[in-house]
Amino acid sequence: MLDLSARFGHHGTLLFLDLDQFKDINDSCGHKIGDNLLKQVAQTLLDISRATDIVARLGGDEFAILLPETTDIGAAQFANKVCQSINQITMQVKDVYYKISASIGLVSFPQSDLTVDELISNADLAMYQSKAKGKNTWHQFALDDKTRDQLESRVLWKNKIEAALAHNRFIFHYQPIMDIRTRTVSHYEVLIRMQDDDGTIHYPDSFIQIAEQTGLIHDIDHHVLQQSIEKQAQLDKQGADISLSINLSGHAADDHLLVPLIKRLLKESQANPEHLIFELTETAAVADIKHAKHMMTQLKMLGCRFSLDDFGTGFASFHYLRELPVDIVKIDGSFIRDLAHNPDDQLFVKALVDVARGMGKKTIAEFVENAEILALLHAFGVDYAQGYYIGRPEPHFLTGPPILT
Ligand code: C2E
Ligand code: CA
Ligand code: CA
Repeated sequence: MLDLSARFGHHGTLLFLDLDQFKDINDSCGHKIGDNLLKQVAQTLLDISRATDIVARLGGDEFAILLPETTDIGAAQFANKVCQSINQITMQVKDVYYKISASIGLVSFPQSDLTVDELISNADLAMYQSKAKGKNTWHQFALDDKTRDQLESRVLWKNKIEAALAHNRFIFHYQPIMDIRTRTVSHYEVLIRMQDDDGTIHYPDSFIQIAEQTGLIHDIDHHVLQQSIEKQAQLDKQGADISLSINLSGHAADDHLLVPLIKRLLKESQANPEHLIFELTETAAVADIKHAKHMMTQLKMLGCRFSLDDFGTGFASFHYLRELPVDIVKIDGSFIRDLAHNPDDQLFVKALVDVARGMGKKTIAEFVENAEILALLHAFGVDYAQGYYIGRPEPHFLTGPPILT
């Protein structure tokens, strides 16, 4: 078709379509219902396309539609129609309604001398761009250099993440969390890093966001849990008095496999669940408070604790504090870094300590970078401190008490 359109000057469009939360439905409702849904999507696509269009399933929840003869405007109208029609499909399982949506990438042809493979990969890139815009939308691929660079970098990072998962190239650093009153360390936060084939170490800022956009974040969460729980089990066996604090991604609350995985890992490794703390950011917890609460409650029943990370950056933080079954509140570093010189930050920290204590919760301050800040935190009654002043994230644990100069 590409040859024909180039030869006779026709203009066509290729649509790449990916369902937004198919994996969730499959995981929570079973494959039979998943299969049924795919059939409904296929039928919907056939119903709204013309006899001369080609509708195909590429695999999994990916479909493609080839419109041999269309303008860009016509293709955009068609993409809108696809979004709307798919969005009308609902699945009822017991008393829960699932609404379906899709992300679509569009690429028009012929384009200079792009090959079939290049067109398909551009459509795939455009699809990722539409996922990044939000669900149930489409994006027309444009050969604009900036977006092209961004997309290529996203694809590059996606490949790097996949390779790191496949070849076990994630490594973990541990940062001490100090009890301010006793000046002892019994907790460490686990922080992930990614090692490249050439040995370069990448920090989470480079890859977590892309992992979230491409859905790879669940695999990272699972890998982090597996490695950390195994490490906790080793520490427990050695009789080391160390608790690990594990970051869960913002998407953890809607991962149906997470709690069963943690249960299995705990059972297999014999790690003490009471030593594990999970960190979830306030923003993530509030964005999906129902699921977050449910996950927290289930993990707390196993004996694990919860820490509300980056506290204070969200909207109406204090309001939600009451609602969430967390044990520890981790005050966001932006309130701490400049604490010694910022009276507003001091007010906030003091108020938070009061409220948290009233609710029976502990407090941690992160980004504690000097003695002055630590002294203030002590005076305000904050329970724990974490930051470069106490210790940087390192691949090993402290061998003695932190050296505070
Ligand atoms: P976070 O959970 O708020 O972690 C604290 C970050 O602040 C870490 O950066 C840490 O190295 C850094 N930090 C610690 N002390 C200080 C200090 O005194 N001053 C300053 N300026 N920074 C300090 P890192 O390791 O690059 O992690 C960044 C973020 O990546 C984390 O923020 C967390 O949201 C995410 N992350 C890290 N590990 C994991 C993981 O295993 N899974 C998931 N899902 N996310 C992770
Ligand atoms: Ca954290
Ligand atoms: Ca934090």
